[in-house]
Amino acid sequence: MIFPTSDEDVLVRISDRNPSRELLDGVAGADCTVVEVGSTGFPAVEPLVSVTRGERTTFHAQCSPEEIQEFVALADDSSRADTAAVVEHDPETTTFPAPELFGLDTGVRRVLGGCGWRRPTHPDDHEAAGGFASVASEAVASLARQLRGRGWGDWRHDQRLIDAWRPAMEADSAAVVVNAHGTTADTLLLSSVPFEVLEGANAAARAVGADRIVVYTADNDAALTVNEAAENYPNPCASVDVVGGPSEYRAAEPTMALEAIEGNHRIEARLRPPGPEVSGLHGDPTLVHTARTFAQLAVAVRDGFAESRLVTVTGDVAVPATVEVPESDTIETALDAVDIDGEFKAACVGGRFGGITTELDIDVAPDTLANADLGTEGTVRIITEDQCVVAFIGNKTQFAADENCGRCVPCREGTTQLANQLRAIYDGDYDSDGIEELVRVMDLSSICAFGKQAGRPTRTAMAAFESEFAAHADGRCPAGSCFDRNFAVS
Ligand code: SF4
Repeated sequence: MIFPTSDEDVLVRISDRNPSRELLDGVAGADCTVVEVGSTGFPAVEPLVSVTRGERTTFHAQCSPEEIQEFVALADDSSRADTAAVVEHDPETTTFPAPELFGLDTGVRRVLGGCGWRRPTHPDDHEAAGGFASVASEAVASLARQLRGRGWGDWRHDQRLIDAWRPAMEADSAAVVVNAHGTTADTLLLSSVPFEVLEGANAAARAVGADRIVVYTADNDAALTVNEAAENYPNPCASVDVVGGPSEYRAAEPTMALEAIEGNHRIEARLRPPGPEVSGLHGDPTLVHTARTFAQLAVAVRDGFAESRLVTVTGDVAVPATVEVPESDTIETALDAVDIDGEFKAACVGGRFGGITTELDIDVAPDTLANADLGTEGTVRIITEDQCVVAFIGNKTQFAADENCGRCVPCREGTTQLANQLRAIYDGDYDSDGIEELVRVMDLSSICAFGKQAGRPTRTAMAAFESEFAAHADGRCPAGSCFDRNFAVS
């Protein structure tokens, strides 16, 4: 990893998902070392230029090609107080020293520690942070007894990993799939700290005796980055292939991910049992975890077990942001990272089919979220006062009706019926008992998480906004934003 070697030595980091040629050219010829370090998870500040001299780094947010040379020349100038900040830190720190700027210091940085600070595809940067250390398989398996899967694309979603590892440990041939399809946080990890993800996958492969790792993503840029990192990975214990997937939301479901990786054009969920842990990729026992889960495993192997969750705040905000929050902290903590565009009304917590709530003083621990009927996917979508909750969940339900794979009746027919029942409210026919029963059946009988969760926005919105539903049945929209029965696909 590159560090400044003297007080005169200047190191410039450019943090952005895709820094422009003009920005890079803007610093060409300056008497300094320039490196590209990937996104911080805060697009609002990017391009973020950090100028390090000795123990001091000055951060310049939203830096233009015209400004960069001036900032490099004035390495410790923070006179632009609105978009600049200075942090004193260990000159050889390998973790982003978050400044108090646009909420960048929100939460903790363990899994996200290298984002915006280490070069994504340079193994020596990861090694300097303690990466690539050899660890006994027993120690990894021990962590798998504590660690839970993260995200609906994880076959051990919210469950301890170890039970899904045992068949692979006893098999002659096994595979590991990094399911990074579809979520902002997984794409961020592949793009900014791919070695964390690959190290977690390698540790798992070694622990179960798997000989191949497949990284699955629908993001082309992330695929290129993780592919380059895989080529630079020193002494991997398994081969690594990076496979692109279709963009459909449902293609993140673990068994649909396997279908896509195997090259099947019709993306349907597989019947279960057996699950992928017994018969997965080409029939072999397969560990299917998200990039978040594998990165968490890598950091736990290196720094010890400590639960934190990646949370992406989006919706009615100026610019979305992804932060890392200890499980003992609340959803509210993550909101420090964004500017809400209007007056807060509610949030959809836990992904596309998360729960609707007005209460954000709830820990991000999965059991606490589940007890509150919220999702654990790690996405918080802000809803402001000018949005109609009935239309909001109507759009989600129509999306579920349009995008399900059609494999099972409770989801295929249930989502269509639910969308029709929500439309009927606009005609004065609000059958709350019928809706609740339909959602209950979908939850209990659908094959995969898509159908099990598709009714959750409706169930939770009816509990939190009963009067808004009743008002629509009376021909009024309290938000004043809708009286349209034709839900669009969101
Ligand atoms: S729940 Fe929906 S997405 Fe899942 S298998 Fe059934 S129809 Fe397909």
